[in-house]
Amino acid sequence: MRAVVYRGVGDVRVEAVADPEIEHPGDAIVRVTTAAICGSDLHFFHGKTPLEPGETIGHEAVGVVERTGPEVRRFVPGDRVAVSFVIACGRCWFCRQGQTGLCEDYRNLGAGIFGGGLGGAQAELLRVPAADLNLLPVPAAVDDERAVFVGDALTTGVYAVARAEVAPGQTVAVVGAGPVGYCCVQAARLEGAEVIAIDLDPARLALAGDAGAVPVNATERNAEMAVADRTEGRGADVAIEAVGTAAGFRRALEVVRRGGRVAVAGVYASEVVEAQLGVWWARGLDLRFTGVCPVHAWWERTMGEVEGGRLDPAPLVSHRLPLEEAPRGYRLFDEREATKVLLIP
Ligand SMILES: [Zn+2]
Ligand SMILES: [Zn+2]
Repeated sequence: MRAVVYRGVGDVRVEAVADPEIEHPGDAIVRVTTAAICGSDLHFFHGKTPLEPGETIGHEAVGVVERTGPEVRRFVPGDRVAVSFVIACGRCWFCRQGQTGLCEDYRNLGAGIFGGGLGGAQAELLRVPAADLNLLPVPAAVDDERAVFVGDALTTGVYAVARAEVAPGQTVAVVGAGPVGYCCVQAARLEGAEVIAIDLDPARLALAGDAGAVPVNATERNAEMAVADRTEGRGADVAIEAVGTAAGFRRALEVVRRGGRVAVAGVYASEVVEAQLGVWWARGLDLRFTGVCPVHAWWERTMGEVEGGRLDPAPLVSHRLPLEEAPRGYRLFDEREATKVLLIP
């Protein structure tokens, strides 16, 4: 089959690789009909997260079940499915609590040996372990380019907003209007909140504005003042950090009001921030980290909202390319000329 293969920093290619096979009785092989390039794929592309040359990449996909192992109960060949970006075991203590993002055997597709050595989703065929858990049926009314977000960014946004306990009438500042931030904007609007989206990129802010947020360009305006202006000087009731940088974290703390809640949804690795605990304490901040989204606990609801037209990630999609043009897709996304690139095998 054809698949996107990592060849080195800044170098991905589409090559012929071996077809995946059923390796465990709970596996399914999915014929990918739409895959997507994610911000975390760029970390591999830049060599920030390790991937060995020759390994396949990608974790966002929708497709059709091609074959199933003997223990797969929920799916048969021909079913349209979305794939979870979290490949969870479904059996450990955390999975049994619905906390699949904290799974003891947590794996990611297309993330090399540290992701569990699973193949990538930017490919014609994909092996999905524990398929009964890690696949979700796609209703006929939901097309691929919407469904592909349900296994990752859109459900992450729905979950972040739930973790932030967003309530109707609250003012929510979303820091970062990339794909996850955009999905947070939509999910917070769905909860009846007023949303302020803060970013540096005009294209991303325009999308957030179309989704019902008040856009604030932090290169043009002081974000803290902009939020204060809309909240009688108090600051936002809730700030959702959707960047994953120390600067994004600090900004979320700046724009939230005293006694407000900060939900950190951005992905962090080794970043360090100084914490003046007395300031946080005196402000009565409720600071919570979402961790990896437990997709499985939230994706049925998310798919239902997409099917009902209440959430719609499609405006994020800027490019639809044949799989063979994946290297160009990576370049466009990396250079911020694309907001979301879909790859069609
Ligand atoms: Zn992703
Ligand atoms: Zn588990």
